[in-house]
Amino acid sequence: MSAAVTVSRLKSHLADLSMPGSLEVVDGLMEKLDRGSLSPAEAMEQLISAQVVLKQEKRLAIAMRSSKLPAVKKLDSFDFTFQPSIDHSQILSLHELTFIERKENVIFLGPAGVGKTHLAISLAVAAIERGKRVYFSTLSNLVLMLIEAERKGKLREKLLMLRNPALLVIDEIGYLPIPQSGTNLLFQVVNIRYEKGSMILTSNKSFKEWGEIFGDAVAAAAMLDRLLHHCHLVNIKGNSYRMRQYPNLALPNEVTVPAQHTAKRKVEKKLN
Ligand code: ADP
Ligand code: MG
Repeated sequence: MSAAVTVSRLKSHLADLSMPGSLEVVDGLMEKLDRGSLSPAEAMEQLISAQVVLKQEKRLAIAMRSSKLPAVKKLDSFDFTFQPSIDHSQILSLHELTFIERKENVIFLGPAGVGKTHLAISLAVAAIERGKRVYFSTLSNLVLMLIEAERKGKLREKLLMLRNPALLVIDEIGYLPIPQSGTNLLFQVVNIRYEKGSMILTSNKSFKEWGEIFGDAVAAAAMLDRLLHHCHLVNIKGNSYRMRQYPNLALPNEVTVPAQHTAKRKVEKKLN
């Protein structure tokens, strides 16, 4: 059989086996083989690895889509010199993702524009790249979704769906007030994931103010009690990156964190 016929049969097999990644590299590999710049073993390895890479890229793309991340943000595009209150080594160590293995939480606190969502997303992207399932939502969308699920009698299903991902990111706690029913529903999410899966939360409000956001100081305290039990806190004090061209317009920028976050569990399980 001539080389041309063999290559044509190889291509047809790869097409039958739905291996477009390998198919695409056949001609290039044949050329390199002809030139002697590649050994047959190397050519075989590269033929298969082209398909493996494509499969990984597809898996990553599907995982990114289903995570509902609003954007792709990476750590390498984060300018730490702009935000000196951030402990660089803490953020690097969080990106090793052992907090996910240990089912611990991360809470980013700080005023608008200091990079809370950027860092939350960059951790989420790193987790997806390591094959972890991630789900991202703003607090208000999450609450709307839960209220709707409850209305349709599908709350249990939705709560189980929110328990599954290795990492659940809840962004923007504090920008919009949450109705009482939403607070109870969120409490159920926190409960169902407690010590079972990690969460990343971002908020522009201090923990003291969470009672106001949730319209219920007891529920907020009980929720914080669980969230802070195994938690890495990143409290960012600085100016908005969005406003960096207008330093004179910057608003006072600090979220105060009471000693509460280091306190031992003290809220009794009233709401269990
Ligand atoms: P926050 O969630 O704290 O309100 P974001 O994370 O949404 O702030 O940041 C606002 C915008 O500024 C985003 O586009 C983000 O990527 C960018 N950004 C914030 N801080 C930095 C930084 N230190 N380096 C690079 N980009 C930043
Ligand atoms: Mg944000």
